[in-house]
Amino acid sequence: MTQNFIVIGNPISHSKSPQIHQTFAAQSEIDILYQRQYCPDNEASFIAVVEAFFNGGGGGANVTVPFKQIAFTHCQEQGNLSEHARVAGAVNTLLIRGDAVYGDNTDGQGLVNHIISLGWPLKKARVAIIGAGGAARGVVLPLIQAGIASLTIANRTLSKAQTLVTELSAASQTIEKQAIETCTTAELTGEFDLIINATSIGLTEHTLPIADSLNTHYAYDMMYGRALPFLAHFAQRGAQVSDGYGMLINQAALSFECWTGKAVDIAAATKDLPSL
Ligand code: NAP
Repeated sequence: MTQNFIVIGNPISHSKSPQIHQTFAAQSEIDILYQRQYCPDNEASFIAVVEAFFNGGGGGANVTVPFKQIAFTHCQEQGNLSEHARVAGAVNTLLIRGDAVYGDNTDGQGLVNHIISLGWPLKKARVAIIGAGGAARGVVLPLIQAGIASLTIANRTLSKAQTLVTELSAASQTIEKQAIETCTTAELTGEFDLIINATSIGLTEHTLPIADSLNTHYAYDMMYGRALPFLAHFAQRGAQVSDGYGMLINQAALSFECWTGKAVDIAAATKDLPSL
């Protein structure tokens, strides 16, 4: 029997999730229909879409911009959240667990899994994240669970980085406020093993202010599908670099596995996917 999945967003026509999940399904030899679901940008419409989908027998849903926080609140009210979703304050994966809609967040673990698959060392690594928005928030707990040695969060607006650390440490005993340093992006200096760009600057014509004394062995940009000056800067200095396309595939694979119980061969699936 065909299993039904959707990705809910606004806008949604650009989403590559249907291609990615159909590729996973072909690999697992299961029959799925994965569709884009447009939703008006308000909470009542989002909840109506989710309820109609699951009441109609839907198997699972991804949630994208601008609904990840609304999905979080909806699942939180029912006490039905994974730890990663609870700490991230955002949900990108929905399914039915018990009698209620359950929310998970696979974005941060998807990034960590991609970094591990690249062979980049995370255990005892000195890590800096640039950015303090939703993407940065989601990756902190998975990085700490992967065994990093230290974490610095740099952001254009310092107060947002400080608030993020306060909120994360209140949400999880694994995250110690004192163990995370914060600074402005321009103040980020020194030697790191890994620097992650979790800002949305790649969508603009601007470039990040990068101090000349800032160095790293590995540089990761969560953006993909366009030229990324952040990666070009560190590649020129001899660092290994990666864009966020693998994060996209890995977060999708975690959602797929959570819904279907089928493990994804990500290397094989990536080869089968047209470049996005
Ligand atoms: P967000 O919540 O809107 O946060 C944006 C962040 O970027 C903030 O820290 C903001 O700093 C910073 N920023 C924006 N413009 C800037 C500029 N001109 N100079 C310096 N900093 C700037 O966005 P998000 O949801 O965290 O997403 C961030 C990025 O991650 C997006 O590009 C998104 O596409 C990407 N992402 C990729 C994946 C994937 O699967 N590859 C998954 C999730 C997200 P202020 O606080 O100072 O405003």
